[in-house]
Amino acid sequence: MLEHDLVFPAGFAALPRLVRLAPRSAEARGLAGKILERAAGRHGCDDLLADCAGAIAEFGVVLDRHLRSRPADYLGSFRALLAVEEEYHWANALEGFEDDINHVDCPHCGVAVTIVIGGFGCYSETWDGGEGLRRDLRPAAAEDLTGTSRWMHQIAVRDGQEVLADGIAHLFGKAECPRCASVFSVADEYTSANRPVLR
Ligand SMILES: [Zn+2]
Repeated sequence: MLEHDLVFPAGFAALPRLVRLAPRSAEARGLAGKILERAAGRHGCDDLLADCAGAIAEFGVVLDRHLRSRPADYLGSFRALLAVEEEYHWANALEGFEDDINHVDCPHCGVAVTIVIGGFGCYSETWDGGEGLRRDLRPAAAEDLTGTSRWMHQIAVRDGQEVLADGIAHLFGKAECPRCASVFSVADEYTSANRPVLR
């Protein structure tokens, strides 16, 4: 905690300068994104965050322009844009869907369910003895997405990021529990499984 107390004010102080460098520097974009990703309001930096509001808004414009150019660091910049929009959970959690494996509990029967979203398949899986039981995920249709998920999907589609767009549709879609056959929202269970423990 002490480390955070020291690191975060310094990070925020550097933010305006990093944002000025961001259009030309992948390193500056990455650093500024990391500072914001970790900003989730629990480090006592709310005042500093407010002081940086102008720089953060400018960073959003820089990132949006950068993403439209379909850069090599697309995912990192996309996550930084999520942090600019104060979507800290997804800014931290999004892995790019090449080989994403998440562990949740079925909200109905409580069994541990592995959610796989990746190049080798999109499915839910439970283990019964040595045998894995799998069910295909049910991705959300683009027109059924709302709010943040809709915005995330639209940007990925706009920029031709098919893997990311497809992953987002699965993440905000439904999964079937292979054991009890109840159907639940992947994103809701993933969010509750990863909620920080309050001390
Ligand atoms: Zn179940």
